[in-house]
Amino acid sequence: APDTAIDPADLLASVFGFHSFRPGQEEIVRAVIAGRDTLAIMPTGGGKSLCFQLPALCLDGMTVVISPLIALMRDQVRALREAGVEAGALTSGNTEEETEDVFQAIDDGRLKLLYIAPERLASSATQSLLKRAHTRLIAVDEAHCVSQWGHDFRPDYLRIGELKRVLGVPLAAFTATADEETRAEIVTRLFGGTQPATFLRGFDRPNIHLAFAPKDQPRRQILDFAAARRGQSGIVYCASRARTETLAAALREAGHPACHYHGGMDPDDRREVEARFQREDGLIVVATVAFGMGIDKPDIRWVAHADLPKSIEGYYQEIGRAGRDGAPAETLTLYGPDDIRFRRSQIDEGLAPPDRKAADHARLNALLGLAEATSCRRQRLLAYFGESSDPCGNCDLCDHPPDLFDGTEAVRKALSAALRTGES
Ligand code: ADP
Ligand code: MG
Ligand code: ZN
Repeated sequence: APDTAIDPADLLASVFGFHSFRPGQEEIVRAVIAGRDTLAIMPTGGGKSLCFQLPALCLDGMTVVISPLIALMRDQVRALREAGVEAGALTSGNTEEETEDVFQAIDDGRLKLLYIAPERLASSATQSLLKRAHTRLIAVDEAHCVSQWGHDFRPDYLRIGELKRVLGVPLAAFTATADEETRAEIVTRLFGGTQPATFLRGFDRPNIHLAFAPKDQPRRQILDFAAARRGQSGIVYCASRARTETLAAALREAGHPACHYHGGMDPDDRREVEARFQREDGLIVVATVAFGMGIDKPDIRWVAHADLPKSIEGYYQEIGRAGRDGAPAETLTLYGPDDIRFRRSQIDEGLAPPDRKAADHARLNALLGLAEATSCRRQRLLAYFGESSDPCGNCDLCDHPPDLFDGTEAVRKALSAALRTGES
């Protein structure tokens, strides 16, 4: 018999104010409520938070949520509280009073969702607290942070598997990172190698227009792209910190509100840019990939890559920040021979073991394949993630099918020339 009489579909409206589930959400919610170990891979903006928040309310006892970013945790806790849900966070950003309130709510058995920073897992006090609190479920957001090879790796995520064993409760893991390797690592490290119920779907973001262009005069190309979208919020990704600064300056000179963002900046300055972007309409942020995971702005209208991203996964995540509200959004990715050389040497000069480097080259090659595609880009992108689809009608190649005849003819001539050379 189900241990709850609460129908998640009722709470969807009454607590969260949503009229229907997004694609994939309902199956995940039901699996989690049924007590199954669950791995859900959903694109950015797909609505992963709901897939653990809603079950937490249907289950008795408490759900522990592990999330890598304090700002994200605080946002979610605030939103839940506003909706009348007993939620709290234990992070280094807490005031003493907040922490006291959380402990009190746990002791009263009131708390439904406890967000904790991964660093907290190192303390044995945390483990006994979670036992005492009748933890019923562990939810792991941004589960790819457990992957030692990914650039979001968080060592403390490696403690989660142990926590699951100690508490003996189901675990639900969420990520937007789909590749097979990361998935396998998540299964090993979070689920002790036992295959969880896995949900992988919905990678298409049909409202995002896809386009690539050979890099010719990058500064001019980005300025033109931004000029055609004046007043709209956008992100320009660059491969280097220095370039974010020069390009932001060029955009300002052209009359756009623009600022730069990268990992070398003072944390306060970074937060300031994040807050401005969230708050203001029409700001352009020129950034390295450091600008990302924490951004939850639904109406980003465009994303441009002034330099080629490092992999097809990176490309997908970065363009995926546009158009989360479902309204049309546009992207442009520039690429040239220097980009390819740069990305290759980045991999070769890195410290990763050889098999890892080979995998990184393969991911870069997949992106190059997408850049040089001659038919629908979305079809190719989705195929990489294991989804088959029809030509999309919303990419540059669907808009203007390339004239393949010349290319084919050139290849045929070159081939026959090569054959003739071989004969003589
Ligand atoms: P993810 O973590 O997968 O990137 P979020 O959980 O942050 O996505 O959700 C993205 C946005 O979608 C949020 O603004 C959220 O309120 C909204 N959302 C989630 N589920 C639904 C739903 N069923 N109906 C409408 N909006 C939803
Ligand atoms: Mg999320
Ligand atoms: Zn297309």
